[in-house]
This record gives sequence, C-alpha cells and structure tokens, in this order.
Amino acid sequence: MSNSQLTCDNNGVPAPALSKAISYEEARATVIRKVAARARMPAVETTSLDTAAGRVLARDVLADRPYPALDRTARDGFAVRSSDMPGRVRVIGEVRAGERFDRAVGAGEAVEIMTGAPVPQGADAIVMVEHVEREGDFIAFGGAVASGQFINFQGGESPAGALLLAAGTRIGYSEIALLASAGVAVVPVFARCRVAIITTGDELVAPEQIPLPHQIRNSNGYSLAAQVNRAGGHPELLGVARDDLGETRAVIDRGLAADLLLISGGVSAGKYDVVEEALRSFGATIFFDRVAIQPGQPLVFGWARGCFFFGLPGNPVSTVVTFELFARAALEMLNGSPAAEPVFAMAHLTRDYRHKPGLRRFLPAMVAAGDSGGGELTPIAWTGSSDIASLTRANAFMVVDPEREAWKAGDLMPVLFK
Ligand code: AMP
Ligand code: MG
Repeated sequence: MSNSQLTCDNNGVPAPALSKAISYEEARATVIRKVAARARMPAVETTSLDTAAGRVLARDVLADRPYPALDRTARDGFAVRSSDMPGRVRVIGEVRAGERFDRAVGAGEAVEIMTGAPVPQGADAIVMVEHVEREGDFIAFGGAVASGQFINFQGGESPAGALLLAAGTRIGYSEIALLASAGVAVVPVFARCRVAIITTGDELVAPEQIPLPHQIRNSNGYSLAAQVNRAGGHPELLGVARDDLGETRAVIDRGLAADLLLISGGVSAGKYDVVEEALRSFGATIFFDRVAIQPGQPLVFGWARGCFFFGLPGNPVSTVVTFELFARAALEMLNGSPAAEPVFAMAHLTRDYRHKPGLRRFLPAMVAAGDSGGGELTPIAWTGSSDIASLTRANAFMVVDPEREAWKAGDLMPVLFK
C-alpha cells in the first residue's frame, strides 16, 4: 500500500476499522520522510561541559590548533636518532610532560623522555625505557629502530582548522573529551524537543497505588519517559486518560502543544480504543496506523496542529519496541540530529527457531560471547508482549525475517541491542 493511500484526513469519511499493515521498512521510511519534510531547526542554547552529555551539538567545532600541537612521545623512554640504533648513546638530559627540551639531540646522544612530552629537535624515534640497558650516563639498545617509532606527530590526529565535530552530532563521552580538549567549555546545543506522554486505559492506576485485581499499574508512562530522556528529549507526563472520547480529546488537546506527542494504548480495534478517533477530531493526518511487526501491529503515526504524534500499542513490550523502532527516529530529527539507523548485528542462534511468516518480529533475546568467538543468540521465554519481566532478562531483540519460516541452531540472525 502506498503512503498516499494511507493518508486520510478528517473530512467526514469514517476510517476503516483496520487498515492494511505496511512493512517495517516502509513505516520507518515514512517516519523519516515526513519528519524531514516538516522539522524545523530547534532553538540554540548553551550548556556547560558537565551537562552536555546526551545533547545535540548546534554548531560545527573546528580544531583551534593542530592535534597534537607538536611531535609528542607516546611512551616513556628515550628520544634517539634512529640512525644511531642499534647502539650505545649518551643521555644528555630529560624532558617531562609539560616541559620542552631546549637543546637538539646530536649523533650519539639521547634524551630521557616521559609520555606526552615533546620530542626534542634532532631525535626521530623513541625507545621504550623497558627495552634499554642503562649504564651510568649511557643507554644501549640492541635492535633496529624505525624513524618515527612511538611518536605522535604534530597534526596527526587533526590539522588546525579541521572539522572536529559537525553540528547535529549527539554528544556522548567521546565527544565530551574532544570538546574539552578543543577548549569548548560552553557548548552550543539545540533545545531539547518537548515530548508529551499520554497513557490511556480505564484499568490503569499510578505505581504508588495498590491496584484492585482487575487493575494494573501504569508502567508505559515511565518507560517512555526514560526512553525519551535517553534519546535526548524532554519528557512531559500528561497523565492517564480514561477510555472515553471526551477525556482522551481533552488531554490530546494539551499534548499537541508539545513538539512530539506519544500516546500509549487505545489504538487497537477494541470497542473502547478511541485514540485514533480523538486524533482525527483534531483534523489529524494519519500516515499509517498498522505495521506488520510483532510486538506492535497497531501503531499510529500522524500529524496534527503542527505536532507529530505516535499512538503506540499499550502492551508494555510493544510500547518500548515501537518507540525504539519509530518514535525515537522522529525525536532525534526534531532534536536537530539525523535519525540514527538501528544497527542490526548478526549472532548465531543457540537453538532451532520457527515462526509463522508474515510479521517482522522483534523478540526479547540474550546475546552472549560464544565459544566460537562470534555472538550467540538465545531467545528469552516470554508469554507475550505484556511480559515486562522477560524484557528485563534480555539485552537485545532478535529480528525475525517475515519471509522465512525456520532456522537451525548455528544460523545467523540479526539482533538489535536494547
Ligand atoms: P491497549 O493498547 O490499550 O489495547 O492495551 C493493551 C494492553 O496493554 C492491555 O492489557 C493494557 O492493560 C496494557 N496497557 C495499556 N496501557 C498500559 C500502561 N500505561 N502500562 C502498562 N500496561 C498498559
Ligand atoms: Mg487500552
């Protein structure tokens, strides 16, 4: 089904109860295409280095000087002339990290040197302290030495003026180290996307409450908030809406003021699943409402009043999986960075596996280092997409091909780490 056929607006035509499901690939491509077409650059603000992790860099960062700024030793040892080696040379002084040696190393000479110190003029190699024999003012080294050995040359990591980090980069610990070393103490970052989270369901009570036997505690609001935070967004929990059109409309009305709206539950074909109807009443354009995946077949993605929204299926495992596969990409783009492509690593199944073809499944699994050296993949026993406990025992989702039926132990299968 093409995307244009899926687009339906509220011009009085009631939506079909169940649309045809589109594939995972088509759904993801739709999210990326729609958000790319409409996302505006977020506002720029600044933050300090100790609070920059997880944010998105708003400006390119260029190297303020060559890195390294001069030729530097990578080892503790002796700066020598490689043409003197093998041989016995006289130690004429020492240079520590943070110092410069102001004389040149001549033929038959060496300078004792500590890791990070500049290589003195005249020397073109380092021999490690552990590898020389020391005899008073002399050292002896028995092997040949290649010119340049253990030297990090000026500009070898990046020349002055080179692009170190591009605007749109998500800042992690590596980027923090690079920003600090390049002198960016006040970091320009994009404002975090505001993500409204609505949970729906008559059966829900707050985590601090004692549920009656027919009630459950709301877990999706909190798992979604954690996922939004991890993806660099700013979650705003708007609470629980009862399965009632008026109440659901009222809370969606507030949620559409955010940059992105996530709604959990109420998007299946049940009699009290009113979320899609509530969204349509705001003139929403629905880009798709069913994806051929498990968990999470019912899955609504659309746009209303300048806000993208996802109606995620309410089963807790479905909610987290559909957020990771689709909503996270939208959030990343609204945050000013390109959507990170999910990385499907390959691992060997530890047992035979079969499924009914048709759906691409993302099932809780454990990947461990195998004896053979490659990753080994074991499906986690679960009772279905309400089984949150099974999710906590998994470190990945195994990604099951919708067009294949059976796998043997040892076969490779893609996995997506949690
Ligand atoms: P729904 O998508 O509304 O049909 O819900 C599917 C299943 O997920 C039902 O068993 C709900 O009780 C459960 N569920 C819905 N919302 C939540 C939530 N916020 N936290 C935990 N479970 C939920
Ligand atoms: Mg429900």
